[in-house]
Amino acid sequence: MAVKVAVNGYGTIGKRVADAISLQKDMEVVGVTKTKPDFDAKMAIKKGYRLYAAIPDRVKVFESAGLEVEGTIEDLLKEVDIVVDCSPNKIGAENKKLYEKLGVKAIFQGGEKKDVAEVSFNAIANYEEAVGKQFVRVVSCNTTGLTRLIYTIKKNFPIKKVRATMIRRVVDPKEDKKGLVNGIQPNPIKLPSHHGPDVQSILPDVNIITAAFKVPTTIMHVHSVAIEMEKDISEEDIKSAFAEEPRIMLFNSEDGFTSTAKIIEFARDLRLRYDLYENAVWEDSIGVVDGEVYVTQAINQESIVIPENIDAIRAMLELMDKEESIKETNRTLKIGVLD
Ligand code: NAD
Repeated sequence: MAVKVAVNGYGTIGKRVADAISLQKDMEVVGVTKTKPDFDAKMAIKKGYRLYAAIPDRVKVFESAGLEVEGTIEDLLKEVDIVVDCSPNKIGAENKKLYEKLGVKAIFQGGEKKDVAEVSFNAIANYEEAVGKQFVRVVSCNTTGLTRLIYTIKKNFPIKKVRATMIRRVVDPKEDKKGLVNGIQPNPIKLPSHHGPDVQSILPDVNIITAAFKVPTTIMHVHSVAIEMEKDISEEDIKSAFAEEPRIMLFNSEDGFTSTAKIIEFARDLRLRYDLYENAVWEDSIGVVDGEVYVTQAINQESIVIPENIDAIRAMLELMDKEESIKETNRTLKIGVLD
């Protein structure tokens, strides 16, 4: 029997989580929530999702806009085994009070502080730690991308120190109220950035320093990563470690992948909504100089965390073990598949 899931906050991440759940045999979306009757709310209904008001006293607002809601978030939570909270940054911590009151398991997103949950989660790095847990946080897009890359190297070869610079898309494509039209913004100005400690919330033994800059683009982040290794290693060693991990996809500039614009154009042809769930690693960026590995990757911020949310549901509800869950999520989302 399929487990019952609520998606609280049908926005950029929430709508993708709902669609990914709909592709799984062992889980179903019971309902999704919105705060207002906008085009996203109308599309949710059109796609067949039952709509609930994320804020109870907004039911009237939906009704006066002619949109039927099934009830409030509290009504929805009473029907489910788990909720995936996809509300805006810091709102998840507020929503947690309701989840605790009703005794519902909850997954939070990377916009929440790590103490919102018992475990910070990345499927390939620490699936087992989330097994049976009440509250889990799927880390942010940048931390997911970094953690996957570092873990894939680390599980094959011992590493000494990681330095990573992140060039971040300033906002998501739909965001028309904020942005950076002309400039490169060190973010934060005082180093290091929070991404290093966030990676350590999953891989505590990794020595990592990070810096981050925002730039005027909306489609992907780019990470320039340097990893000091404990032992001698070759470029081929790194390439084959990446090639074996389905959640990492290798791209080559010889095929025309000269920028994130080209990677996203490829993803537009490949996937629903151009979602690229994999780290996009430039194969020909991989280099080894004086025992240090250099690599550049791009991360589609809107989609990278979606498979992790699916695997977190399975871990918390003890539906499958790590290998089985990752394999099933990869199969259903066509991760690592090029046709
Ligand atoms: P979003 O603004 O696109 O969507 C948030 C949704 O939550 C909206 O539909 C909004 O109506 C709804 N909402 C507002 N108040 C609510 C409340 N009180 N309760 C429930 N829902 C409420 O935001 P997003 O980009 O999807 O981000 C959601 C979370 O995912 C954040 O923690 C964010 O940091 C994280 N995240 C975002 C990205 C990204 O690039 N967009 C990537 C990884 C992680």
